Amino acid sequence: MIDSKELDPKFKYEVAAEMGGTNITRCFACGTCTAGCPVREIDDKYNPRKIIRMVLLGMREKVLKSDFIWLCSTCYTCYDRCPQDVQLTAIMTALKNIAAREGHIHPSFKEQARLVSTFGRLYEVEDFDNKKREKLGLPPIQKTFDDLTKLAKASLPKKVIQ
Ligand code: SF4
Ligand code: SF4
Repeated sequence: MIDSKELDPKFKYEVAAEMGGTNITRCFACGTCTAGCPVREIDDKYNPRKIIRMVLLGMREKVLKSDFIWLCSTCYTCYDRCPQDVQLTAIMTALKNIAAREGHIHPSFKEQARLVSTFGRLYEVEDFDNKKREKLGLPPIQKTFDDLTKLAKASLPKKVIQ
């Protein structure tokens, strides 16, 4: 059910003004993106054509607060196959950027940002890991990469890494 009072007719222009969002109004809903999407194959809740429709209809709050915009794996299959050059992968990134600015960030992405800003990588190396490597005659793994943690702290918004 769509409540017309909740629609924002300017949302598509907002997305079009975002980097990567320029071609959103070219979509003619052919469904090629959904048919070839590998994420859709494993989770039928994810439907790139529907996401574009929701944006074009102005369902701003629903789109920006949804988990599904964070499911795109940026594989670029839809980007290559779209007959209208909508550049859907870039649109998904544009939607994530708008959502993140408004504080709607999926917890898994927040955790990834925290790990990169703390350790400079996406997982924490424990003493256990290096002891195991020592037993195998392997050199220890560096626990943190200071240049990368500094870069992450300087470039990621505070609300993302807190
Ligand atoms: S393939 Fe392109 S034109 Fe077709 S539904 Fe997807 S985004 Fe729209
Ligand atoms: S880029 Fe995202 S939306 Fe497009 S096919 Fe890959 S996972 Fe699906």
